Amino acid sequence: MEREYLNLIGGEWTAAAGGATRSDRNPARSEDVVAVFPSGGREDAVRAAEAAARAFPGWARTPMPKRSEILLKAAALLEQRLDEVAQALTREEGKTLAESKGETARGVSLLRYYAGEALQPTGELFGSAVATTLLFAERVPLGPVALITPWNFPVAIPTWKVAPALAFGNTVVLKPAELTPLTAWHLADVLHQAGLPPGVLNLVVGRGSQIGPALAESPHIKAISFTGSNAVGAGLAAKCAERGIKFQLEMGGKNPVIVLSDADLDKAVELTIAGAMLSTGQKCTATSRVIVHRDVLGDFRDRLVARASALKVGDGMKADTYMGPLVSADAEKTVLDYIEVGKREGARLLTGGAKLRGGDYDRGFFVSPAVFDGVRSEMRIAQEEIFGPVVAVLEAKDFDEALALANDTRFGLSASVVTRDLGLALRFVREIEVGIVHVNSQTAGAEPQVPFGGFKGSSSGSREQGKAAREFFTQTKTVYLDPP
Ligand code: ADP
Repeated sequence: MEREYLNLIGGEWTAAAGGATRSDRNPARSEDVVAVFPSGGREDAVRAAEAAARAFPGWARTPMPKRSEILLKAAALLEQRLDEVAQALTREEGKTLAESKGETARGVSLLRYYAGEALQPTGELFGSAVATTLLFAERVPLGPVALITPWNFPVAIPTWKVAPALAFGNTVVLKPAELTPLTAWHLADVLHQAGLPPGVLNLVVGRGSQIGPALAESPHIKAISFTGSNAVGAGLAAKCAERGIKFQLEMGGKNPVIVLSDADLDKAVELTIAGAMLSTGQKCTATSRVIVHRDVLGDFRDRLVARASALKVGDGMKADTYMGPLVSADAEKTVLDYIEVGKREGARLLTGGAKLRGGDYDRGFFVSPAVFDGVRSEMRIAQEEIFGPVVAVLEAKDFDEALALANDTRFGLSASVVTRDLGLALRFVREIEVGIVHVNSQTAGAEPQVPFGGFKGSSSGSREQGKAAREFFTQTKTVYLDPP
């Protein structure tokens, strides 16, 4: 029998209010039920928000070093169960075990990073125009916050929201994606075991369409941090704006790599493959367009197709797998539909893009890595986020055209250029319209100490991580202190 897990509300592990449950399944082997989780709804969200509100005054008063200590303890506990969490991640999301271990290790370092951030200065002193006044501005917590997270980085994204929210004195309702609750459960469990007081972190697994709006409408919730689709993000933003609460949205991408004529083509192919195909292309920072200078297009394309078609696709648990399955039947259908869209639009499918069949493939959602060329910028496969192992190759006659193509999208999360030309690399850094710029490295990747987020339709203008996390999860109180 698979284990049945519970939500965490007010320090108690509890079933969903209506008792509903949902099976968490392995996308590589759909008969494998990883766990059973509550399928919570509005009532659970309301109870969690109330619990977070009750816990807030105590947690906000808890000294920073104490909060920091709990995060450090949680980091140590997560590190101790790294293998178990990584296996859970591969089983419920599908990425390879190597990627899952890397992501869980990143969760550990995020907890440590924010344990350190919690000890940084909390404000600034100013010289006042009045001689007797002590004038300062202090960053104080917001209150209970709702964190709504997706399935593609189910350890890293919840951690990079939960850790700073807690470090800076907020209480939390975490609503992880329905497809990947077990990894979020581990995060909640290690924090609970590390000694978080009841109600400081609440975990509500269940239906996003019910829990999300209930949290956004709850008078207790003072901010929402969301990572997911543009459609859901836009709805949440409207609700937050109506209530006048803070929000932060991280959404889609259509991230380009530009390959210039002087590029090291082996390097360009490697970073395109890694950016496009690792995590089965299911990263908001995944490479989905490669814009190649026409002088090297043929050579680059041949090498890219050779690499893509040789990638080993399979169960992420197997040591030789490079690329695991898509996360769900819906995701698989979306990707296969886009392959048809691309063909209909007149792009040439050079390799992949097929449902893999036979043997173990029949048990999961496996699609072969796809490369299209002859892609024009107005095609849907060049404009819409596919969120799968599909890369579109576009031709450019020079740097200016490549840059214009790279910017011809409503998204603006990350981008990369491969070149040895420092002048062009600098122009790229200055003129590309994205929040995260890479020169000679892949479009994916995020370190905790620097801001993460995009331009245009990729974000709501806010940033996560680094100092940006303090900015978002606190508000400023300016104090004029005079003697009696
Ligand atoms: P994806 O599944 O493509 O990552 P979604 O935006 O559908 O993106 O999901 C991201 C998160 O938002 C998930 O935790 C999901 O349950 C949640 N969610 C889904 N619908 C809503 C909604 N109407 N309001 C708030 N959150 C939602």
